Amino acid sequence: MNLTKEKVLSMTVPTPFAVGPVNCFLLKGDALTLVDTGPRTPEAQQELEKQLHSYGVAFEDIDQVVLTHHHPDHIGLVGRMMKNGVNVLGHWKNDRWLQMSDSFLKENEAFMTGIYREAGVPEQYFDHVSDTRGYLAYTDRAKCDRHLSEGDDVPGCSGWTVMETPGHAQSHISLWHKETGMMIAGDHLIKKISSNPLLEPPYVKGTERPKPLLQQRNSYRKTLDAHLQYVYTGHGEPILNPDELIKVRLQKQEERSEKVASFLNRPMTAFEVCQQLFPGVYKKQTGLTLSETIGHLDYLESENVIVKIKEKEKTVYRSRS
Ligand SMILES: [Zn+2]
Repeated sequence: MNLTKEKVLSMTVPTPFAVGPVNCFLLKGDALTLVDTGPRTPEAQQELEKQLHSYGVAFEDIDQVVLTHHHPDHIGLVGRMMKNGVNVLGHWKNDRWLQMSDSFLKENEAFMTGIYREAGVPEQYFDHVSDTRGYLAYTDRAKCDRHLSEGDDVPGCSGWTVMETPGHAQSHISLWHKETGMMIAGDHLIKKISSNPLLEPPYVKGTERPKPLLQQRNSYRKTLDAHLQYVYTGHGEPILNPDELIKVRLQKQEERSEKVASFLNRPMTAFEVCQQLFPGVYKKQTGLTLSETIGHLDYLESENVIVKIKEKEKTVYRSRS
């Protein structure tokens, strides 16, 4: 085993977001590979360059960037790095977020507006639909040179393969080093916080939307099957007991779903459930808390615990029992 080739070098750069700093990783394989870049801010770039330098690497030396998922705190600098001629690798589901075409941004907002209406959100909170635009300001337009999907080898990084881990983002992949049981997990797994399953529009217009909490649970189970030893994460410290943590995440989701089910002895909209589940927080973080709430409603519906009843514009949910 060539230890230098599989070594993961960590870097931590600041972000302007509530989540705090983000971790990026350097793999010195046959291709000098950066996993995630940090957001597009002068502070993040400066810090990334400084920390690369401490590993004897200049910004311009990087051959390729692998994207764990499309969120700006992870990929913001990729457009800038493309100008240096780096190859960009990621799941094809990143593409619409990297291109950021006006038509897609409009489609995304129309989708979220539809979600808000169906969930019975009062008009005063609809401003939150455009939060995404502000958030996307921390990234440049870019494109993937090569798509990675389930089971692919990561080119130039011997022993590393791709595991699709959707849930937090549709585009999410994790990098798995089977021989040593290591993973670079982006926001799929984080030690101190549970990562939100986030709603996104379907990839084929007019088809059913993805159900992110159900996807996340599947991704968790798939990760358990890999019997990991050590997980590098997108935020905070590495995880030394991944199986234990994943089981806790699954358990906590079930407990929260049970709590949601306990509200539903009368019909309620998703927004009414959201207000009870996240009192205080839902006003400021309407999009995040609504995504999480709808995730639990999707889960309870899939388990046949609740029924979904479509009214005129709104949808209500109630317990089957
Ligand atoms: Zn993320």
